[in-house]
Amino acid sequence: MKILFLDQSGKPGGAELCLIDIAKPYGDRALVGLFADGDFRKLLQQHHIPVKVLATQPIQVRKQSNFLQALASVGQLAPLLAKVVQTAKEYDLIYANTQKALVIGALASFLARRPLVYHLHDILSSEHFSRTNLRIAVTLANRFASLVIANSQASHTAFIAEGGNAKLTEIVYNGFDRQNYQTVASEVKELRQQLGLEGKFVVGHFSRLAPWKGQHILIRALSECPPEVTVILVGDALFGEQDYVQELHEQVAKLKLENRVQFLGFRADVPQLMAACDLVAHTSIAPEPFGRVIVEAMLCGRPVVAAKAGGAVELIEHGRNGFLVTPGESEELAQVIQTCVAEVEMTATIANHGRAIAGQRFDIVAINQQIAQLLSQRFKKPAHPGGEEGRLQTD
Ligand code: UDP
Repeated sequence: MKILFLDQSGKPGGAELCLIDIAKPYGDRALVGLFADGDFRKLLQQHHIPVKVLATQPIQVRKQSNFLQALASVGQLAPLLAKVVQTAKEYDLIYANTQKALVIGALASFLARRPLVYHLHDILSSEHFSRTNLRIAVTLANRFASLVIANSQASHTAFIAEGGNAKLTEIVYNGFDRQNYQTVASEVKELRQQLGLEGKFVVGHFSRLAPWKGQHILIRALSECPPEVTVILVGDALFGEQDYVQELHEQVAKLKLENRVQFLGFRADVPQLMAACDLVAHTSIAPEPFGRVIVEAMLCGRPVVAAKAGGAVELIEHGRNGFLVTPGESEELAQVIQTCVAEVEMTATIANHGRAIAGQRFDIVAINQQIAQLLSQRFKKPAHPGGEEGRLQTD
């Protein structure tokens, strides 16, 4: 089966990193069509995944766009749509990995007569999207998609609550290659030295800098922790959240935490950095659709504390393979951090459980197999990478 994957982003967020793992086994039977150029294209190339930037100008519609703004963008999308339709004719299936990819993918699916899969990486709720965008996403998915893959029970539930067709939808978690999270102790030690983290209790936060990711909650919690606790913030403002970055720096200065918070920007060595941490914190104040960093921290054998909402609740059982705290509650977070500082053995046991469970539940080979099976069931065609061609049946 030849698959045209579509993704709107030139930047590597969680949905894009997940797509790398899904597209990779298909080799040159897949093409990733991007609506913007950037580091994500380079990453795909590093993984030898065929990629083409299909748009010549950035798409202006934002998550909170209203109806008129959405309508105004239609003209702007026409050249991109024409390119996607032309490209799609060379593939058996269109696989939309983001919302704007769904819009273009749905129209292309109709015009090129190719079936459409929508991989839902978002919680479709008014916390994240305008009413117009929600309506467009659900209507297009219901009307044009033959399969909707939700990345968690939480994103599945939100899709159905907004009127999404349950019969179309299957839940598939993100998959991870365990080997990518094995690190060399001497390298990790060197990294800690380079960053001046020796003798500290290091809490790591790995996420783009955005208000809903709640880095400010961690900084507030840090001000209530003993002085040996220090924080590294890994990630950058990917989608223009510069004001928030400024606010974070101001908050750090106001709380006199300049020596205890490091902003490391976007990094490609997340496993090594996670291994250099004593605890990984996830602090989203709106429900997280899945929460890749939670699983990644577990695979690195690090204890993880996460905000109790959305996908995080499906990944962590409090006190068994991690810790859950009320979203936005910095005092509760500070308490968990201090427990981890004090209870070293208990915390290590929880981290070990986390690693063992995550290794089994999110194994990339099993997850890719699950997706391949869904595609072959829905389209009556062997969809295994390298599988034999057959007849498509999309209804
Ligand atoms: N990430 C990264 N470098 C950074 C910060 C984050 O590679 O500097 C990765 C992180 O390891 C994770 C992804 O970005 O795989 C973020 O995914 P998540 O599901 O946590 O959040 P999303 O970006 O999808 O909202």
